[in-house]
Amino acid sequence: TEACVSAVEGAGRLNAFVHRTPEIALEQARAADARIKAGDAPAMCGIPLGIKDLFCTRGVASQAASGILEGFRPEYESTVTQQLWDAGAVMLGKLNMDEFAMGSSNETSVYGNAINPWKRQGDDTDLTPGGSSGGSASAVAADLCLAATGTDTGGSIRQPAAFTGIVGIKPTYGRCSRWGVVAFASSLDQAGPMAKTVRDAAIMLGAMSGHDPKDSTSADLAVPDFEAMLTGDIRGKRIGIPQEYRMEGMPAEIEKLWSDGAAMLRAAGAEIVDISLPHTKYALPAYYVIAPAEASSNLARYDGVRYGHRARLSQGDGITEMYEKSRAEGFGTEVQRRVMIGTYVLSAGFYDAYYNRARKVRTLIKRDFENAFATGIDAILTPATPSAAFGLGEVADPVAMYLNDVFTVTVNLAGLPGVAVPAGLDAQGLPLGLQLIGRPWEEGDLLNVAHVIE
Ligand code: GLN
Repeated sequence: TEACVSAVEGAGRLNAFVHRTPEIALEQARAADARIKAGDAPAMCGIPLGIKDLFCTRGVASQAASGILEGFRPEYESTVTQQLWDAGAVMLGKLNMDEFAMGSSNETSVYGNAINPWKRQGDDTDLTPGGSSGGSASAVAADLCLAATGTDTGGSIRQPAAFTGIVGIKPTYGRCSRWGVVAFASSLDQAGPMAKTVRDAAIMLGAMSGHDPKDSTSADLAVPDFEAMLTGDIRGKRIGIPQEYRMEGMPAEIEKLWSDGAAMLRAAGAEIVDISLPHTKYALPAYYVIAPAEASSNLARYDGVRYGHRARLSQGDGITEMYEKSRAEGFGTEVQRRVMIGTYVLSAGFYDAYYNRARKVRTLIKRDFENAFATGIDAILTPATPSAAFGLGEVADPVAMYLNDVFTVTVNLAGLPGVAVPAGLDAQGLPLGLQLIGRPWEEGDLLNVAHVIE
């Protein structure tokens, strides 16, 4: 813990940690020592973690990297972080992210972007660690902490993991409680671990998982011993390669990464099968209707009264002006864009044309996966991202930014588990990741396949 605390101190340039909690860390570490001495050391005992700023942590700033939550210190602890503390883990502080988890580059944060510790060979340009869990990815990749929490609504664990050469898993929807995690799009959001190895991710996922009566969508299922499932034996497993993910203009090095990954699994005794997920091309548009729709509803609670920032009002301003001014000042551009899109697609005249249509597409995408799994497929292999990490400021157009999520959003729409695992370097020496998608509740088997690739 002391080594991590000083690493965090010395790594301000990365802008990964936005609130540091060294006193809490040292106190938790002392308690962990005592537990170890007493012979009662749970799975995460004494493991120093970073926590994404989206998780409410009691008495510690929890702002979702937004100006509107300025000064917010929750009086409660999210279930997932409470479970981590109960398992002996240590909190080093809160990690940078895109505002309300909306973004793919960490550039929408009120704290400014986190920076990727990796650089292109012979080029000093600062790169994005990805988003929205960019601070988590940067902190783990730079060895500031042993692992971190992330959240994933459309790729926010997997894309930053791929951009920084670490492992990140989005569990099955309902595996981890969402209670105390600031809501973005409630039907898509899941928390998950970001770690250096598949084994670390498996151990941490075990500690984060489980039924929570405070979240009605959390599943009342036993949590398997994910670590014990990492046997490395994948003989006879059927791995699907979805043809629709072979996007036009896909860089040759991503194609190669993908076929090398398949070859690695084949060499370990798996059978590689071509499959079809025919509605894939509608996933991104459906996601960018559903996610903003839910966000516009969830973000209605930030009214300048209950939490955080309230605008300075002028003589004659009423309650409407207070809402308008507080929200205009507190929310950044991307969040305002999502609120406007979401409000539009939910409005009386457009609900059927956009929101309802997107929900139908979501069902078709879910069915595509069910059909593939019904043919005996155990896991699906795809690239995690369409490119390696890009330079900060390089992607300025919001729609171009949304295209980053092309391989990841399908998994959230279908509620399935998906893991990003480091699989090689590009020509400029940057990490590239592969994604494995599994059957619901089979994170253990999925991590076992990922373990063969890492
Ligand atoms: N990049 C996607 C978005 O901006 C996904 C974000 C996430 O998973 N939280 O909505």
